[in-house]
Order: sequence, then C-alpha cells, then structure tokens
Amino acid sequence: MDNKGFMIATDSYDVIIIGTGAGGGTLAHRLAPSGKRILILERGRFLPREKENWNSTAVFQDMRYHTMEKWFDADNKTFMAHTGYFVGGNTKVYGGAMFRLRERDFETVQHKGGISPEWPVKYRDFEPYYLQAEELYEVHGKRGVDPTEPAMTADYPFPPLAHEPRIQELADKLRKRGRAPFQIPLALKRNETDLLHSPCIRCSTCDGFPCLVDAKADADVNGIRPALQHSNVTLLQNAKVTRLLTAKNSREISAVEAEVNGEPHSFRADLVVVAAGAINSAVILLRSVSDKHPDGLANSSGQVGRNYMRHLNGAMLGITRRRNPVVFQKTLAMNDYYWGDDGFAFPLGHIQLLGKTDRGTVGADAPFFAPGFVLDQMAKHSIDWWFTAEDLPHPDNRVSVDKTGAIHLEQRDRYHEHFDRLMDRWKSELKAVDRDGCFLPLPFYLFKKIPTLGVAHQNGTCRFGEDPKTSVLNVFCQTHDVDNLYVVDASFFPSSGAVNPSLTIAANALRVGDHLIERLG
Ligand SMILES: Cc1cc2nc3c(=O)[nH]c(=O)nc-3n(C[C@H](O)[C@H](O)[C@H](O)COP(=O)(O)OP(=O)(O)OC[C@H]3O[C@@H](n4cnc5c(N)ncnc54)[C@H](O)[C@@H]3O)c2cc1C
Ligand code: SF4
Repeated sequence: MDNKGFMIATDSYDVIIIGTGAGGGTLAHRLAPSGKRILILERGRFLPREKENWNSTAVFQDMRYHTMEKWFDADNKTFMAHTGYFVGGNTKVYGGAMFRLRERDFETVQHKGGISPEWPVKYRDFEPYYLQAEELYEVHGKRGVDPTEPAMTADYPFPPLAHEPRIQELADKLRKRGRAPFQIPLALKRNETDLLHSPCIRCSTCDGFPCLVDAKADADVNGIRPALQHSNVTLLQNAKVTRLLTAKNSREISAVEAEVNGEPHSFRADLVVVAAGAINSAVILLRSVSDKHPDGLANSSGQVGRNYMRHLNGAMLGITRRRNPVVFQKTLAMNDYYWGDDGFAFPLGHIQLLGKTDRGTVGADAPFFAPGFVLDQMAKHSIDWWFTAEDLPHPDNRVSVDKTGAIHLEQRDRYHEHFDRLMDRWKSELKAVDRDGCFLPLPFYLFKKIPTLGVAHQNGTCRFGEDPKTSVLNVFCQTHDVDNLYVVDASFFPSSGAVNPSLTIAANALRVGDHLIERLG
C-alpha cells in the first residue's frame, strides 16, 4: 500500500496493455508467444453469453451492452455514447466488415471541404500486416472485385459469404447498370461448404449484436483468448485504468493506477501500452496531469484529444412494397463513388449493407407512438444500407476532460457535402434498379445521419507523425514525450479514409507488436 492508499502489485511486468479491443486484443495476441510477462488491464469483463445477445430490443432499445456514463457534447449537453466496455472492446458488437484502406488514403487527398493529411508510413508498409490481420481475423472475401481495392499479395484466407436471393438480384441489376457491387470481406467463422461444422449459423442478429455462439472473429475470441493460453499472459477484468504516473525524469511511466473491482491498485512495467479506444486513451493521458506534464501526459504538442474523427456515417432504410426475406443481409458493398462521381471530382465515400433491421432495431429510432405492426412491416419490406464518408481532422473536434474528470466530446460535422451527395446518389441509383420490385409509385427512403453519440468509428486523438510539434506518437506509436509509453488503438489515425477501421487498427497493432518484440529483446 502506498501513501495514497493504492495497493501496489508486487509483480513487475515487461508490458502492460490497457484495453482489449481491435488494438489491445490484437497486440496481446502478437506479444503472447514472446514469453515476456504481459499484464492486460481491461475495465470490462467477458461479455456474458445469454439469450439477450440476440434480442434487438435488449441490444438497441435497452442498450444492454452500452456504458451508462454521461459525456458532454459540443453544446455542453449530456449524452450516452453508443459504446461498451467488455473484453474484446467494440469488436464484440461489430459487423466484422474488414477493409483495407486504399493506397491513396495514405497520401494527401484533396476533398472539396479540405485536406485529408498524409500518413508517415505508406500502404506498402501496412500490406504485410493487413495480410496477417486478415488471417488472424479469418476474413472471408474475394479479391479483384472491388474497383478501388489496393494491391494485395495474397487472396483472403476464406471465400466470401454468398448473397441471399433478394440481394443477389440487386447485385445483378447494379452490375447491368455498370456498377461494381462486391461481397463484403467479413470476419465471421462461416463454412458454407460444411454447414454441419460451421460455427456461424448466418443469423439475422449479427451487425451491432454480440455473437451468442462465439462465431464472430473478434478481438476477444481471436485475440485475447488465444493469448491467455500462454502462461506469461495475465488478464485482469474490471480493471479500469485511471492514471499513469511518471518517474522523476518525466520520460518514463513508473506506475499505472487502476481501480480493480473498485479498489485502487498500482502496477509497474517496462513498457506501457494504452489501447483504450480513441476517446478513452486520450482521456487517460489527459487525466494523467502532473507537475512535469501540466496539460496531460505526452501532450507537449497540445494535440492529445484533438483531431477526433468518427466518419460521417448514416443509415438508410429503402422500403418498397416487396418483402425482403433476407436473413443475413450484410454481404454487399460498393466503392464506385469512393473517389468521386460524375460532376464531382472529390471523394464521396463507401456504401455497404447493414445487418437486417427488425421491429426492435427500427423501434430504437421510432417515435414512441409508432405502432409495433408498422415498425414490423417497415422492417420486413426494407433493404438497409450504411454509408461512410471521410471525416476530415479538425483541431477543435476534440476529446477533453473537465476538473471533475468528466468527458467532453466536442464534435461538429464541418464538411458534409460529400456525405449528402453520397446518400442522394444512392437513393437515385436504387430507384433506378429496384423500380420493378415495387408496387408503390415511389419507394420510401428513411435516412438517419449518425449524431455525436455514434462513436463506433472513433479515431484520431493521438495521431502519429514525424514532428513532435504536430503529432503525439512517432511512426511506431511510441509517444514523442515518454519513452516507454505507446498508444496502440484507433487513436493513431492522422486521417480516416472512408472504410471501416478495424482491420487497419489490427494491422497496425501487429506492426507495432513486431517493433515491441524487437525492443524487448
Ligand atoms: C455497432 C458497431 C459496429 C461496428 N462494425 C464495424 C465493422 O463492421 N467493421 C469495422 O472495421 N469496425 C466496426 N466497428 C468499429 C470497431 O468496433 C472499432 O473501430 C474497433 O473496435 C476499435 O478498436 P480500438 O482498439 O481502438 O478500441 P475498442 O475496440 O473500443 O477497445 C478499447 C478497449 O479499452 C477498454 N478500456 C476503455 N477504457 C479503459 C480504461 N480506462 N481502463 C482499462 N480498459 C479500458 C474498453 O473496455 C475496450 O475493451 C463497429 C463498432 C460498433 C460499435
Ligand atoms: S451471423 Fe454468425 S457470427 Fe454473426 S452473430 Fe450470427 S452466428 Fe454469430
């Protein structure tokens, strides 16, 4: 026990990893075979396997797997972010869409509304790690069908998931119009040639839900659990890191303070890796104020928490008179407008199918007086889409903490013309291809732009770069200011591209993992 009442762990570790999501879980997997003593501190616990995993009312209306913390938005209003704390982080509920960024995403890209900045490392540096991440996460996909696909040195480890008939019909019609729809690369353990032994049963409650049968290749099942097979790896659940302390020289972390089951504890390691997600990693650093680090740890640049990005995301329900009997809907994506469109020479973004909505998911956004049968009919007749456009970094889109320690997330969509165009473009495209399936004069499209509470694709906040004045991390995601401190989650993104982030987070964790193994000797 120290003089502040913290229990001091007598053991010292080679590495402490804080958080077990796409970053932390993947890193733990990479470091585990090294034999080094690794302690993983995770504020959540293993997500319980229970019937509610697959219940849309429990998941989307009761928010059973979300944190109930109250954060403050740009207008100082409280909100509850759509995120949760479990072993595996947000990959426990992700849709498993595993995309590589495009080569050009690593370069400076001119948007109509500003610049998407260049990365200090390039696609060629990431390529081998993308390949390894696709293997680790058992990605099912097909090369050569996405026109914007970057160069790849090998095929996906598993074949893609087939479209169901209604979606195949749509894909055929799109192709006839000269579009290039393709099958989404997915991290699901599905064996379509041996259904008897396929862990994944291809259910309708996948995207946004935990998997009751552990058939989603997430950072818990494919990262942490195999890492724990190694006796040198220890996981502490319910271990919320509150603060990092530095030694007198101020360039070294001397202790990691955490509340373990609500009790204060202190841990030590040669290397400390923060992987708490882009928002909470910034929060941990900003809360670790000291005389030597008055603006928060590793924040001599003033950049910690800034340049928060989260993609401009939106959902659309395309409702026609024709029923959509699909079970597993999330199989089709389109990148035809990723870099622009006729008459608009700037990037628009990415389109993919969502998991199939039902009365429970649609009801989460419906007014309370909407009758259940209407919601039911809407869901039965809709094809459901997800849009992602790049969110350009801005210093005033930021995470900060106030004197009480509360989290503030100031986020405004400063440039959204590309996103609006993408939604409009897709609506007109769908009207053209799905016309004959509909008995109404016009199909009905319900749009929802995801507001600040939608933090699913959170990234930025501790960007990596070569200049310590403008970035928090160096090219190996080591902080410029503190020698034994790394940040290995979505925080390092200097720009976000317009595809789902997890594969890039995982590939980067493998890349940094190799660097750490070399450093540890
Ligand atoms: C509904 C939904 C669907 C998604 N679908 C996709 C998809 O299809 N494809 C895709 O690529 N991405 C998807 N995402 C995004 C993806 O899940 C995230 O990009 C990814 O999980 C981020 O990885 P991370 O390591 O940065 O953070 P996280 O996965 O959030 O992990 C952070 C970890 O740190 C822990 N933690 C936080 N604070 C502390 C603390 N103080 N002390 C200790 N531990 C702490 C958390 O509990 C968590 O385990 C989706 C997200 C959601 C919510
Ligand atoms: S579709 Fe497969 S991986 Fe997804 S929740 Fe259902 S069984 Fe699990």
